[in-house]
Amino acid sequence: MSIEQEITCWGLIGASTIASQHMINAIRSQSGHDVLAVMSSSQDRADKYAQEHNVKHAYSSVSDLLSNPKIQAVYISTTNELHYEQVMAAAAAGKHILCEKPLALNLDDAKAMLTSCKDAGVVMATNHHLRNAATHRKIKELVQAGEIGKPLFARVFHAVYLPPNLQGWRLNKPKAGGGVILDITVHDVDVLRFILGAEPVEAIAMGHNADLASQGLEDGVMAVLRFDNGMLVQLHDAFTVKHAGTGIEIHGDAGSLIGRNVMSQQPVGEVILRNEAGEKEIKIEHEDLYVYGVAAFCAAMRGEGMPSCTAEDGVTSLAAALAVSEACQTGSSVIIESPLV
Ligand code: NDP
Repeated sequence: MSIEQEITCWGLIGASTIASQHMINAIRSQSGHDVLAVMSSSQDRADKYAQEHNVKHAYSSVSDLLSNPKIQAVYISTTNELHYEQVMAAAAAGKHILCEKPLALNLDDAKAMLTSCKDAGVVMATNHHLRNAATHRKIKELVQAGEIGKPLFARVFHAVYLPPNLQGWRLNKPKAGGGVILDITVHDVDVLRFILGAEPVEAIAMGHNADLASQGLEDGVMAVLRFDNGMLVQLHDAFTVKHAGTGIEIHGDAGSLIGRNVMSQQPVGEVILRNEAGEKEIKIEHEDLYVYGVAAFCAAMRGEGMPSCTAEDGVTSLAAALAVSEACQTGSSVIIESPLV
């Protein structure tokens, strides 16, 4: 029996940086899983990427990759405007799908993706990584255990500097779903929903442009969201700030949880519980966020449990990010309707 028959084979749709830096390793870290193919819009780039990452097949069309019967799962990490058509095609081909955020550029497309995957009987998940971090999982556990009493406010500090190698479509291609809101705010919303077990219902926001982004795209934003448990949440996201540091704070009527350096792709950061008794650093056993997420996805493919971040989670985070975007454009508060009702 060949290796390809013994293992669960994945295809990469998109010769991306995130696949190269995190996801190929995350897939190959799972016992019995490997990356068999990569697809790029350029055959030359696909060939080079395949060679660099020891991937057997390199394609320049999605349909060719999906026609490979050995491929059971795809990881989609193209630019954001392509996710919709690629998920629809992969679902029609019966492949399980791990798709990057934002799932799509509008809610109708995102909901159609979810429905198609359900109809096709394939697992679909969203690759929001932060909820996989040991830091955020610990914060959720402590909030839910009542360690800070009733949660009242949260603040997210996610203003960073976009690395020069990523200063492309995010900054100058509105049609590709560029801009800080679809890139970073959408992650904030997901991790807040995860920690708080509550849903965003209203957004106000102002966009910022420090001349890194162009074409009307924001490279910074400050927003306030109201959640359905009454909490107010403040978000600060940017591509333009080099030294702010990242964090999340959840403030309750009996204590506060402070996560420092936790809005990260790396398994890093610290969590502090502050209350009447003083300050205590919480022990964290860090794990690779992407390995953790792909492990849950692989289990879901085997029929064991759910992905750590479902397609429904991806639709909901998108709804809130689009509301923040609309609030920036209109200057008005925007009600976030539950997109899945
Ligand atoms: P990249 O810019 O690295 O890749 C996106 C696309 O750009 C690729 O599919 C590729 O097209 C094209 N591309 C890449 N390198 C080159 C090049 N040298 N020359 C020409 N074209 C190139 O994007 P990211 O990896 O940063 O993001 C991809 C997706 O992943 C996005 O949806 C983003 O939102 C998401 N993301 C998620 C993260 C997470 O933690 N969940 C973190 C970072 C990104 P082709 O495939 O046709 O070759």
